[in-house]
Amino acid sequence: MAGPLSGRVAVISGGSRGIGRGVAESLLRRGAAVVICARSEDEVTRASDELCALGPARGLRCDVTRAPEVREAVASAVEAFGRLDIAICCQGIYGNAYSVLDYPEREWDEVVAINLKGSFLLGKAAGRAMVECGTDAGRIVLVSSVDALTAEPNCIAYNASKAAIHGLARGMAVDLAPHGITCNAIAPGWVATAMTAGSLPKAVLERQEPFELTVTGRIGVPADIGEAAAWIVDPGSSYVTGSIFVIDGGQTAAAAMPSNYKSATSA
Ligand code: NAP
Repeated sequence: MAGPLSGRVAVISGGSRGIGRGVAESLLRRGAAVVICARSEDEVTRASDELCALGPARGLRCDVTRAPEVREAVASAVEAFGRLDIAICCQGIYGNAYSVLDYPEREWDEVVAINLKGSFLLGKAAGRAMVECGTDAGRIVLVSSVDALTAEPNCIAYNASKAAIHGLARGMAVDLAPHGITCNAIAPGWVATAMTAGSLPKAVLERQEPFELTVTGRIGVPADIGEAAAWIVDPGSSYVTGSIFVIDGGQTAAAAMPSNYKSATSA
């Protein structure tokens, strides 16, 4: 499909469902070729087969916490499509709920490994491949969360790993700038995916009922994040680097007000 990303090749971790899948669709609609990866081979194969209806798409099993698998996924993208221009680190887990007082070390290690180390490993491998293939518009996007800005209760490893992703994005932006590669983070608010399916009423998730946390009055959908990512990775966005884009329907823009608050009236 012809479009602003024609000829560009993207690797998307966590592309088998949810936000990563939404990003893959937005990039394919703009003409990119995509390689999605995730741990479940069945899910990644099914998703890539479906994505092929929109453009060139491949699916690979890859656990982003394992460096050799990440290097293999990046090499496969280069082998399949001849280059690499874009990497989107969309994988993530939330972990089980515990107060920090009881938070198990093993849970911490798993959440931080997937959310943070995985983003480092993919950013590193993709950055190297971009340098080696000589792309003129390398783009890396890390997906964090509004939980990097305001903490959700009982998910200390998620909060901390997402905040650290902002440092990772800025650090990669600085290190990769001499190579013409940008790196930014997207911090989504609530998006209706498998990750949030158990936490909110079905009617809110399906946008049949308003979602009072956002000023837009609805929960986000994966395409909301996909469209933002597509703009960030556009070759024209070369001045955009080291930034954090909060995409949350205005959730963090709105001040929480006391229930007995009365707006001042003008005379
Ligand atoms: P999701 O539907 O659960 O999708 C998560 C994706 O990550 C799946 O493709 C999953 O596939 C993959 N994944 C998990 N661990 C992996 C690993 N070790 N290696 C490779 N892939 C792995 O979640 P989502 O809501 O789309 O979330 C996507 C990203 O957005 C996450 O980073 C999440 O923290 C962030 N986010 C989501 C929301 C929200 O409201 N949904 C809000 C803020 C931020 P496998 O399980 O098969 O590996």
